[in-house]
Amino acid sequence: MSMDYYQPEVLINEDEIAKRVNALGKEITQDYANEEVVLICVLKGAYVFCADLMRKINLPVRLEFVSCSSYGDGLYSSGRVKVEMDVTGPIENCHVIIVEDIVDTGLTIKNLVELIQLKSPKSLKLASLLYKPSRTRHETKIDYLAFEIDDKFVVGYGLDYAGRYRELPYIGFLNAGH
Ligand code: 5GP
Repeated sequence: MSMDYYQPEVLINEDEIAKRVNALGKEITQDYANEEVVLICVLKGAYVFCADLMRKINLPVRLEFVSCSSYGDGLYSSGRVKVEMDVTGPIENCHVIIVEDIVDTGLTIKNLVELIQLKSPKSLKLASLLYKPSRTRHETKIDYLAFEIDDKFVVGYGLDYAGRYRELPYIGFLNAGH
């Protein structure tokens, strides 16, 4: 292992994640009873959460991806959002759920919601693995939230720091500077 690899501390373990993802899947299944839903997975961070969540939704599901960047390799937001990859399948008149990894300042999701609204979905909701209320600058309604967390930089379960740690099965945190 390289010298600059720091083992994150566990914040939310695998079992806790699985329980919440399961509960959210049940909730979505009930809310959309017998309808098809389109999940829009926000790459790359949300892909582990989305993969687990979609298998807990007992409805016909279509999967789309978007990619946008607001962070560089650092710990803090640049305040800019750029859409790098748009959805490819039909969205108009569909029940859409955007699946995010984390809502921090709310900038990314605000921009994304506006973009997806332009495609005239029948309904649009938001699912997020994590939410940092103390950092919110743009008010966001999260319809399906797994966990609210303190202002810590978290990694694992899809979330990275400089491209690393996405493979961790738990959500952990790095101390500032690492
Ligand atoms: P926002 O636009 O809400 O400030 O930031 C959202 C995006 O910033 C997330 O989709 C995620 O990519 C990144 N982000 C915010 N907080 C964290 C964090 O604690 N850890 C990681 N790995 N990414 C974060």
